Amino acid sequence: MENVGFIGLGRMGKSMASNLAKKGFSLVVHDIVEAPVKALVELGAKAAATPADVASQCSIVATMLPASKEVEETLFGPDGAMAHAKPGTLFLEMSTVDPATSDRLHDEAAKRQLMAVDAPVGRLAIHADRGECLFMVGATPANLERVMPLLRAMGTTIHHCGAGGTGMRMKLVNNYLAIILCQLNAEALSLSQRFGLDLVRTLEVLYGTTATNGQLRLNWPNKVLAGDTSPGFTVDLAHKDLSLIVQAANAARVPVPVAAAAREAFSMARSRGYGQIDFSGMVDVLCDIAQIERPRLPAGWTPPG
Ligand code: NAD
Repeated sequence: MENVGFIGLGRMGKSMASNLAKKGFSLVVHDIVEAPVKALVELGAKAAATPADVASQCSIVATMLPASKEVEETLFGPDGAMAHAKPGTLFLEMSTVDPATSDRLHDEAAKRQLMAVDAPVGRLAIHADRGECLFMVGATPANLERVMPLLRAMGTTIHHCGAGGTGMRMKLVNNYLAIILCQLNAEALSLSQRFGLDLVRTLEVLYGTTATNGQLRLNWPNKVLAGDTSPGFTVDLAHKDLSLIVQAANAARVPVPVAAAAREAFSMARSRGYGQIDFSGMVDVLCDIAQIERPRLPAGWTPPG
């Protein structure tokens, strides 16, 4: 069995690495925060002090970091994992980053005769907890086959999108819709609150028409509408993804005016101190600004089947 390195044990990475550990993978883990490293060591993983230390012990190195900056520092720097990788090492990059960073990952790996797979993650943090992630993979068929046992241990659905870099581009297309739906739901429900409409009746109506969407049906009843704005997926990370989307679309000469407007709504939320709450909490942001009561469901309410 291959020794697997895992760098980045945050809301997603800790759960994903835990699923690997529980399913018998030999793991070496690293994070700049101590607590999740300790939790993984309790599950049988070995702790490593630096990305280089991870690379020197492993033949697959997985990363689940916040953004492009952290991925570039961790992998490409002089003390980074790639400079210390053994021949044949494969880099499995699962964070959501700029497609340019993803392309660089494949180029840097090829220059050193190493291998790379971009496999960003779809669905919610609760799916990562349960080992039910969806992966969008950019890789050669041979490299995909090599990481398949890991992806199957962390997820249930694996889409091969094409060559290196296509997984990341697919992820931006996916998050474009998912995050914009969040902003639209926030605006619609704050309007419903201002009109004094009953929240349960509002949801029953929206679920019964084409207005419904995955965020409103799957995420919101368990998160903000249940009074839980712990992340999940933070407003800061959603803002990062919208910025990546606007930048990548502009570079490709595709106008995305709604994405740009939504990005600035998230920017406003961050400037007012809401950056670390779950992105469903955007409705609280709008209600707070408009001085409307935040929408909350009665305890125990579940969406109609
Ligand atoms: P997070 O902020 O909870 O976790 C990031 C982890 O990386 C933290 O533990 C942090 O300490 C660690 N880290 C930061 N810099 C580091 C460095 N230089 N070296 C080592 N560790 C470092 O983020 P998350 O919610 O787990 O998301 C991770 C990635 O997955 C992001 O790119 C995000 O956009 C994407 N994503 C998140 C979700 C979600 O629902 N949270 C879903 C799909 C994809």
